Amino acid sequence: MDTLISKGKSANKPLVVAGCVPQGSRNLKELEGVSIVGVQQIDRVIEVVEETLKGHEVRLLNRRTLPALDLPKVRKNKFIEILPINVGCLGACTYCKTKHARGHLGSYTMESLVRRVKSVISEGVREVWLSSEDTGAYGRDIGVNLPILLKAIIAELPSTGSTMLRVGMTNPPYILEHLKEIAEVLCHPSVYSFLHVPVQSGSNSVLTAMNREYTVEEFRTVVDTLTTLVPGMQIATDIICGFPGETDDDFDQTVELIKEYKLAQVHISQFYPRPGTPAARMKKVPSAIVKKRSRQLTAVFESFTPYNGMEGLIERVWITDVAADGIHLVGHTKGYIQVLIKESPETLLGASATVRITSVGRWSVFGEVIEILSSSVPDRALNKDDSSHNISSSCGAGAEPCACSSELDSCCGGGHCADTAEATVSPLNGTPAEDAQNVNERRKRKTLVSNGTESVESRKPNLKEEFIKVRASTSQWNYIDKSLIAGIILSFLVAVVSLSELWFRKTKSS
Ligand code: SF4
Repeated sequence: MDTLISKGKSANKPLVVAGCVPQGSRNLKELEGVSIVGVQQIDRVIEVVEETLKGHEVRLLNRRTLPALDLPKVRKNKFIEILPINVGCLGACTYCKTKHARGHLGSYTMESLVRRVKSVISEGVREVWLSSEDTGAYGRDIGVNLPILLKAIIAELPSTGSTMLRVGMTNPPYILEHLKEIAEVLCHPSVYSFLHVPVQSGSNSVLTAMNREYTVEEFRTVVDTLTTLVPGMQIATDIICGFPGETDDDFDQTVELIKEYKLAQVHISQFYPRPGTPAARMKKVPSAIVKKRSRQLTAVFESFTPYNGMEGLIERVWITDVAADGIHLVGHTKGYIQVLIKESPETLLGASATVRITSVGRWSVFGEVIEILSSSVPDRALNKDDSSHNISSSCGAGAEPCACSSELDSCCGGGHCADTAEATVSPLNGTPAEDAQNVNERRKRKTLVSNGTESVESRKPNLKEEFIKVRASTSQWNYIDKSLIAGIILSFLVAVVSLSELWFRKTKSS
């Protein structure tokens, strides 16, 4: 960000910086002289840009109501809707900078979220990812909870199973209260049996120093309950190596935890002190030790072979992307295991199919399509029970992962936060399908602009009316003035005539 700002400044460009960093650290030296927009005013970015282009420096950081969920946007992957269910969290982790930017929990209403899900499904979205700093805390500020929301959303998903729901990251504390209900939800055929639960450390004393508000035993309860109740359940977690005060013994407990569960996805990061956080004032573990621990844990994790034994299995997969090699399509099983499908046409994007697993790798498995179960055509255009429709051609770019993890959730680990993977501006180039979407977006915006013009125009007659009124009233005064003047003249003449009459009579009598 510093580099970009310096480049922009030296080229004399008007600059706007938006997101978590200006919200959390508004007084940064680097932000001097540039316009900044916080996380809850992103819907006002057009105003900010316009004012900045006029040469004004704008600072829009005050929190107000949550931004609308249906702001115009272009999805990086047109089959995936990333839906924030709340902003902020109820935590106060000592290493976290995200909290400074996102603040206290603010949940969207269930009605607005369900409405949004219905709307994006009709647009052809095939996966809805619920995102949050902590999905488990959803609704505690508005008297509902996550299972209630999930059930309401599931009721709107197509019965063909063409559209999947992915529940985003949750910390252990609040999800503990609803484990059985969450397990029920994750068993639903249209919900991925996958959850990202960041544990951060296998040592209770480190968790206390982090102020994570749960114990390792509680994390175990979450994992054990879900893996017992949900067939094929997959859990991802995060670890921060070298948190201040972490001893060799603490680190060994983390290694043991990871070895015991052999989770297929573990996002390992090294502790980095974020300015202004309590952890930044704690005594650091020497960086050589932090690096060594991180390497050691990575080696342990990479030695797992989580997908061995899957060869020959038949799985339903949902195909939403093209792999970085440009050859394979990317699908996911119900447990959100990545399946790479070779030699399949791109027309399978957005479809769901049964796939035979042909081989396995460390990070994903390979498969071949046996049967297409649902196509990429939006359900509103189909008879829902008919799965044999033609498949439309489409292509979506991959979504970007969070800076600290391959997950797209808002960060809840180490405060390494990348914002939403969706952009609110149109790219200049794209596939025909994206172009069509851009045209729609532009049309929408145009309608908005047109409405704006109409409202300005509609004020003009009023202004004219006011003007006419003023003129009419001015004419009325002129008339009165004239009448008054005429009256005065008449009175003057009457007085002159009367005085002349008196003078004449007096002269005559004398
Ligand atoms: S790490 Fe996550 S739960 Fe903790 S304060 Fe930050 S955003 Fe909240």
